[in-house]
Amino acid sequence: MANIVIQLGDITELPVDAIVNAANNSLLGGGGVDGAIHRAAGPGLLAECQGLGGCETGAAKLSQAYDLPCRYVIHTVGPVWHGGEKNEAALLRSCYQHSLALADELGLASIAFPAISCGVYGYPHTLACTEAVTALKAYFANNNSSLQEVYLVVMDPNLADLYQQLLRESV
Ligand code: ADP
Repeated sequence: MANIVIQLGDITELPVDAIVNAANNSLLGGGGVDGAIHRAAGPGLLAECQGLGGCETGAAKLSQAYDLPCRYVIHTVGPVWHGGEKNEAALLRSCYQHSLALADELGLASIAFPAISCGVYGYPHTLACTEAVTALKAYFANNNSSLQEVYLVVMDPNLADLYQQLLRESV
């Protein structure tokens, strides 16, 4: 079981093996954390993403990190919240699962996640964080992983409190 660390701050500044981008289906950049990652990485990231052919919701794709201090960027696409009737919970868990699986294919030791779908995609925070913690626990219970540190990176202290509480409850 990897160590799960809640980290307040900007995910683009973390010198981990991989950061996860909460991207959109085009993988051609956007607002929120996606915009911040593209700005910090520089134009090489967009050029590579143009060749990735987009990404399905719930899937994940790998790129290099360019000017970022991490080694790789894992682009995943969270579900837009539609009230919970469009398979959002399973799709959100799938984002975490596929990102972790990609990191393991590369034998990575550390990965950092933003709060996928918790921004413009409108997922209720308590529900989204619950799915995140559930997906992480399930992954490590079922896979022999190279990952030693998983950072849950948030800019909103309320999300940090929420994760803290959920991790305590799930022990
Ligand atoms: P989505 O489209 O999946 O909802 P957003 O980028 O709109 O993605 O938001 C996801 C979460 O990422 C939000 O909680 C937002 O506050 C947070 N966020 C935005 N920029 C950063 C950043 N640089 N580092 C970490 N988290 C960030």
